[in-house]
Amino acid sequence: MSRIFEHPNMNDFACPICGTQEDKRVVLVPIQGTREGVMVECEQVHLDCLLNGLMYYKQRSVMALLCSYGENPDFSSTKKYLQKKKTARKEVSK
Ligand SMILES: [Zn+2]
Repeated sequence: MSRIFEHPNMNDFACPICGTQEDKRVVLVPIQGTREGVMVECEQVHLDCLLNGLMYYKQRSVMALLCSYGENPDFSSTKKYLQKKKTARKEVSK
């Protein structure tokens, strides 16, 4: 099963890397801590943002990228995303 799609599902979509709602190819990235059996919650991420942002920490065997967000105050999808993320952080720190 491919996790790459030509267009994002625009319902509440904001790429967590660039913060935009641009209509371009996306990949579903599983969200850590959401797996239940064979199901896992995923975030839509622009494929090019993902590939361009990747960094390989070879000595630690980790591949990672930093997410950044637009500061546009009208960008409600990103705000919702950040609120969800804050909630998730609180749950982790308990
Ligand atoms: Zn993006």
